[in-house]
Amino acid sequence: MKRDVVVIGGGAAGLMCAFVAGRRGRRVLVLEHNERVGRKIEISGGGRCNFTNTGTTANNFLSDNPHFAKSALARYTPADFVALVERHGIRYHEKKLGQLFCDGSSRQIIEMLLAECDAAGVSIVTGCRVNAVEKGERFTLKTSRGEFECDSLVVATGGLSIPKLGATDFGYRLARQFGLEVVRPEPALVPLTLAPRDLAAFQPLSGVSVPSVVRSGAAEFAENILVTHRGLSGPAVLQISSYWSRGEELSIDLLPGADARTLLADKRRSGAELSNALGGLLPKRFAQVWCETFAPPRPLRSYTDAEVEAVAARLHDWRVRPAGTEGFQKAEVTRGGVHTGELSSKTLEARRVPGLHFVGEVVDVTGHLGGYNFQWAWASGHAAGQYA
Ligand SMILES: Cc1cc2nc3c(=O)[nH]c(=O)nc-3n(C[C@H](O)[C@H](O)[C@H](O)COP(=O)(O)OP(=O)(O)OC[C@H]3O[C@@H](n4cnc5c(N)ncnc54)[C@H](O)[C@@H]3O)c2cc1C
Repeated sequence: MKRDVVVIGGGAAGLMCAFVAGRRGRRVLVLEHNERVGRKIEISGGGRCNFTNTGTTANNFLSDNPHFAKSALARYTPADFVALVERHGIRYHEKKLGQLFCDGSSRQIIEMLLAECDAAGVSIVTGCRVNAVEKGERFTLKTSRGEFECDSLVVATGGLSIPKLGATDFGYRLARQFGLEVVRPEPALVPLTLAPRDLAAFQPLSGVSVPSVVRSGAAEFAENILVTHRGLSGPAVLQISSYWSRGEELSIDLLPGADARTLLADKRRSGAELSNALGGLLPKRFAQVWCETFAPPRPLRSYTDAEVEAVAARLHDWRVRPAGTEGFQKAEVTRGGVHTGELSSKTLEARRVPGLHFVGEVVDVTGHLGGYNFQWAWASGHAAGQYA
């Protein structure tokens, strides 16, 4: 079967790209190996799809080239996607920090994308796994449903997170097959695990969250951390996980904006106990375990100045060395991917392979938590759809 454009992957980026190309009069076919398209959209945002972030800038993304995403993001903005959502009568709300969610269900976003594909004459074949691609004059795809040919091939196969939803490394393999560099894919926006000793101390606090500032290198995020039965999670930890590499320490400020030294000095004078004093500032159970683990086991009154100093410093700069991550099973996205140096930022086409485009998460552009990954999927899909 011959088509102008074949899109591999019926996720966010692939469906957007398909109907944008279809609207230009291109004959477009989407091949998706799951039995239905948009499985990740379905489960996203707790079933309500955090479909964009109104504050999106290139600073909300990690990439070997931090400027790469600017062009596509500028040509298809959160306001453009919101206009599409509104045209389809989908009601939405801002949860916090510019994060827009459906009032109803993320299925509405999938229905919207399918309606747009339908209107643009896009064909979609599900239950069709692409196994191999060859390039002669055109691209030939060998799939579980036979062979397809096309002039333009768009790879929208996503990242490696949540394998049970259909994630494959096919996009990366294809890139390498055509000689394109791939930045090593790693789990990102992922809970971190603690080494046995730290875990033994903090596991009893599983479920407790603490507003904090978490730092790794130059990156920092001010949101909650959450203690889990395997380590640390919560928005601040998920965000920093995208910047963290194995072996590195995190710095956690448990009392952001406060001056722990003055505070502890005052409490020492008033005769309060450390864990009681901290219990007013941190969740009580957390304060208790933290004090048992890190503070001298004596009344605060008997602390020397140096001891007060040390405890205060640690409250603002608690060093934690995670053992690892919970891996692709639990990661919301994959960082790394097809190296942006291989692609045109305008068309997402491989510079060395005319007609071959990569869009969405398979590219080395990874968004922060909060709707940015979908915005990249829409914007990159839209950019490629104009040229594929
Ligand atoms: C639990 C969870 C919640 C999330 N929530 C949010 C959120 O609220 N907001 C946000 O911005 N981001 C969220 N994300 C991230 C977001 O879902 C992804 O970044 C986004 O879906 C990427 O879009 P994509 O089209 O590039 O890839 P995908 O949506 O992953 O689509 C890729 C498609 O390609 C198909 N495919 C792969 N290999 C083949 C092959 N060989 N042949 C045929 N088909 C193939 C896959 O089955 C899949 O359907 C979440 C992710 C997860 C896992």
